[in-house]
Amino acid sequence: CGIVGYIGKREAYPIVIDGLKRLEYRGYDSAGIAIYDGTDLKLSKTKGKVADLEQKINSEISTKGNIAIGHTRWATHGVPNDVNSHPHYSNSGDLVIIHNGIIENYESIKIELIKRGYTFQSDTDTEVLINLIEEVKKKQNVKLGKAVQLALTEVVGAFAIAVFDKNKPNEIVVAKLGSPLAIGIGEDEFFIASDASPFIEYTKNAIYLEDEEMAIVRLNKKIKIRKIKDDSEVTPSMQELKF
Ligand code: GLU
Repeated sequence: CGIVGYIGKREAYPIVIDGLKRLEYRGYDSAGIAIYDGTDLKLSKTKGKVADLEQKINSEISTKGNIAIGHTRWATHGVPNDVNSHPHYSNSGDLVIIHNGIIENYESIKIELIKRGYTFQSDTDTEVLINLIEEVKKKQNVKLGKAVQLALTEVVGAFAIAVFDKNKPNEIVVAKLGSPLAIGIGEDEFFIASDASPFIEYTKNAIYLEDEEMAIVRLNKKIKIRKIKDDSEVTPSMQELKF
C-alpha cells in the first residue's frame, strides 16, 4: 500500500503514476488517482495493478492538472474492488481522500453520520473518515486543515492520509499515525509519498512526519506542521536526501 501526491506547476499525473509504481514493492490489490484539472475534480480507480489503472484512466478522465493524489490499496475493510479502491469523495463531492491504515472505530462513526443523512458508496473505513471531515468542516465552520485535525482526534487507528478540497486546489492536508508519510519540498511545489522514492529526482529536501503530526502543504506558503492532539506547532526538520 502506498500514497503519492503532487501540487505545483508541473503536470501532476505522470509524477503520481510513476510514484505509485515505485511504491508497488509495498504490496497492494487496487490503485486509483484523483486529479483536479482547473475546473473539475476527477477520479479513476480500479482493482488490480497500477498498469491496469494506466490502461483504464485514459478512457475515463483527462489526466491534465497540477494537483493530484494517488493510492495503492491493501484492503482491510471491504473487499478489493473498484468501488472500495481509493481515492474516496465526501458526500458533497468537494473533498477527496487517500488513506493507508485502519480506522478501528469507523462503525460507530458511520452510524452517527448515517443518522445525519450521509450515504456511503463503499464498505471502507476511509470513506467514513472523509465524511467525518466534511461533517466537522460544515458543522464547526472551520477550514479543511482544522476539520482534518478535529476529525482525527475522534479516530482510533492508524493512518497516513492526504486530503484536498476541489474549491481550494492550492492546498493538500496530510496526517500520520503508524503509517509512513514523507513530504518533498521543491520550489513552489510539494510532493507527498509513503517514502521518498517517488520524488527523489525532483527534490532532495524532505520532511518525514512523525506519528500524531499533520501538515498543511500550501502553494507559496511555508509548510505548517502541528501535533494533531494538542495543536502545538512543530518546527519542520528538513532532511537532505542522499541517495
Ligand atoms: N483501510 C483502508 C481500506 O481498506 C486502507 C487500506 C490501505 O492501507 O491501503 O480501504
